[in-house]
Amino acid sequence: MKSYKIACIPGDGIGKEVIPAGQTVLQTLADTLEQFSFEFSAFDWGGDYYRQHGVMMPDDGLEALYDKDAILFGSAGDPQIADHITLWGLRLKICQGLDQYANVRPTRILPGIDGPLKRCRPEDLDWVIVRENSEGEYSGVGGRVHQGQPLEAATDVSMMTRAGIERIMRFAFSLAQSRPRKHLTVITKSNAQRHAMVMWDEIAVEIAREYPDVTWDKELVDAATARMVNKPATLDTIVATNLHADILSDLAAALAGSLGIAPTGNIDPERRYPSMFEPIHGSAFDIMGKGLANPIGTFWCAVMLLSHLGEEQAATVLMESIETVTADATLHTGDLGGSATTAQVTEAVCGHIRNHGKIQKVA
Ligand code: NAD
Ligand code: MN
Repeated sequence: MKSYKIACIPGDGIGKEVIPAGQTVLQTLADTLEQFSFEFSAFDWGGDYYRQHGVMMPDDGLEALYDKDAILFGSAGDPQIADHITLWGLRLKICQGLDQYANVRPTRILPGIDGPLKRCRPEDLDWVIVRENSEGEYSGVGGRVHQGQPLEAATDVSMMTRAGIERIMRFAFSLAQSRPRKHLTVITKSNAQRHAMVMWDEIAVEIAREYPDVTWDKELVDAATARMVNKPATLDTIVATNLHADILSDLAAALAGSLGIAPTGNIDPERRYPSMFEPIHGSAFDIMGKGLANPIGTFWCAVMLLSHLGEEQAATVLMESIETVTADATLHTGDLGGSATTAQVTEAVCGHIRNHGKIQKVA
């Protein structure tokens, strides 16, 4: 039987609640389907680690991840530590260190979830946003001088490379090709940003020639927000820079009903390193420690993780179990207007997985 090594990094806030829930669900799948097993290792990196050691994770921490098959990540963000320290010290350090250059964010309106768009049918909104995850606005290039002086100055340079754009465009066109609609929308801002974004547009045209069966269009990022709200059915696969996709995907998550549902995968498409799966929400300071966090985003991450490992049957069983649970309003957490707890939702999903296993054994 195949055994997968999974690193669990809960991080901060509700990450400490949803990641153990995700691990429970994965273990239940392994126990029920009896097709593979997991070897979990937990890492206590994050805000508490920072208070003890002055860093979010050890300097040589990446070495402990190289031999893993995948990583399940919660959130980096602590009320007492500046956000740029928690983000760069943990999540970005892993994403960049493991060259997870494609960030993939599926969005759908799951059964039973009431999205805020009144004229949007669930089948109208089925998107995957591909976020460039290694450069652009979050390249880390820039500097700050003369701090506190009147001539203080600072820059964040959006650095784009031909190699970086080519590889994310190829990934996005391939992903669009694998979906029924075979349509890609390339997000840009080349009207105002006349260097890097113009190169981005030109490379999109070049790579499109390699995918003659994929139709594609181009949209300015500001116009894209309106299109997502007004004409959701015209979109399918979307590719955008690091910052643009960061913003568009929070909008996408909100349009699908809640930030608590949305998953994301930080993928190394060449599989040189483990890929990392995380709910898109943050530490949720307002509800942390109360057992109220919606674990569905993390469960959907587990679906992506299983799919990435090639365990398609387990991925399908888990997604069906998730959709059965979201369809039941008595199992909605606070973010969805309900009063269910993290533990109740987790137990309900595990119950459906076990049922599924029983049905299979009978058949
Ligand atoms: P957030 O996602 O933590 O919270 C936004 C709102 O959504 C809050 O009201 C929260 O209660 C609610 N919410 C989020 N996830 C939920 C869930 N699973 N169930 C129920 N409700 C949920 O975003 P924020 O407030 O902007 O950020 C808080 C901290 O998290 C900051 O330090 C930020 O830097 C960090 N953060 C980290 C990541 C990451 O590690 N990937 C992502 C976003 C934010
Ligand atoms: Mn974000």
